[in-house]
Amino acid sequence: MRTSTKLSVSRKIDEFIEEKRNSLIDLSDTIWEYAETRFEEYQSAKALADYLEKEGFLVERGVGGIETAFIASYGSGKPVIALLGEYDALSGMSQKDGITNYQPIEEGGNGHGCGHNLLGTAPLAAVLAVKKMIKEYGISGTIRYYGCPGEEGGSGKTFMVREGLFDDVDSALTWHPGSYSGVFSLSTLANYQVYFQFKGTASHAANSPHLGRSALDAVELMNIGVNYLREHIISDARIHYAVTNTGGFSPNVVQSDAEVLYLIRAPQLNQVKEIYERVMNIAKGAALMTGTEVSFKLDKACSNYIPNQTLAHVLEEKMEDFGLPEYTEEEMIFAKAMSQQIKENDKLAAFTEISKVSGEKVNQIREKLGDKPFFEEVFKHQTLNLTLMGSTDVGDVSWVVPTAQFWGACFVAGTPLHSWQLVSQGKTALAHKGMLQAAKVLADAAVELFINPTIIEKAKQELEEEREGAYESPIPREVKPSPLKK
Ligand SMILES: [Zn+2]
Repeated sequence: MRTSTKLSVSRKIDEFIEEKRNSLIDLSDTIWEYAETRFEEYQSAKALADYLEKEGFLVERGVGGIETAFIASYGSGKPVIALLGEYDALSGMSQKDGITNYQPIEEGGNGHGCGHNLLGTAPLAAVLAVKKMIKEYGISGTIRYYGCPGEEGGSGKTFMVREGLFDDVDSALTWHPGSYSGVFSLSTLANYQVYFQFKGTASHAANSPHLGRSALDAVELMNIGVNYLREHIISDARIHYAVTNTGGFSPNVVQSDAEVLYLIRAPQLNQVKEIYERVMNIAKGAALMTGTEVSFKLDKACSNYIPNQTLAHVLEEKMEDFGLPEYTEEEMIFAKAMSQQIKENDKLAAFTEISKVSGEKVNQIREKLGDKPFFEEVFKHQTLNLTLMGSTDVGDVSWVVPTAQFWGACFVAGTPLHSWQLVSQGKTALAHKGMLQAAKVLADAAVELFINPTIIEKAKQELEEEREGAYESPIPREVKPSPLKK
């Protein structure tokens, strides 16, 4: 594309998104208020899908047999570019907006602790802008918005990939709201989430304990066994658990049922599988020791993320073109007050992550921030083979389609994900500005791919080279997406 055309595309995207700014902000705020958790995002999915339908997109709801998943398309033929949106919230993250102290709206209620209200709205804004460019420049190809539910502990996209919904997609782009701006260039951990259910025999704990077989004892012994295992697995692996059924509240009854949910993570899926086999053996051992029976139920799984460098460079270029949001004096006062509420350790964690991405020293990054609430630059990424200690279901998309994503600054530097500080900022001008900036970057990058199909070819070739073996869904066919247990 000629430079002058490029410039006019960027300008038009900018203007178009600014024109729509109020209704996009309304949409994001509405989703913030719905705060629906995984696979129950009925109102949020409807709000997004309805908006797209009104704007002339062809919307398919309930795709892949998941009620809150949808795909909105515009255009025809190849290439097919997908922008991914998420909109699920977290339980226990309820928090009032725009304040600098912890104050839940509803004790134990849901909240958008990961900013997915913004995450889902920016690509929607972007596909609308791309539609306008397709029309204006006579571009051929299809732009799609993927409504991806259940990212938080649900692996929604892994199910969507398993159902073949990405089979004809040529490139996928997305972003995540964060506390700095830069390409998401790190890999993530693959994982398995598995329920271990123990079944024993109930009995009177004083009168006939010898007749009882305690399922709760089995859970405890299993956890102890796994604690010993941790020393003998690769250091990048993680094993977490939550006891989801303690067998009741009566100490005078030997517990006949108990359940523990394990989340096993490692850089590669085969490493997760290997650790899972060993955890299974420990569970069997615990059952043997206690005279109980154990059964396993895979809840969900996801693959590691393969960042596509070819596409990442396109995103980075666009991020630099659009730059960072500018804030008013009033916004800066709020940002500074919020920054006081972010612990030094959380800031250090952010600096360490940026250091992994950019290759700069942690101290250098700390100095760059100084006592400001925001970084003043887009961090350039280095092509290093490093892993972020976390998981995302974007991983499974990245195995079948060249995929790139970025962090867009929406919150003050160091704001941790899944925190009240993040929820509180999710409806402020800081977040809105970051979201609209992200929308422009996504739109401009998508248009670039439509106009330069050689980038897509290069990205595909890169994926072929990077991917170790063919993709196999980590979730067996019979497993269905499951909402949060309450
Ligand atoms: Zn998230």
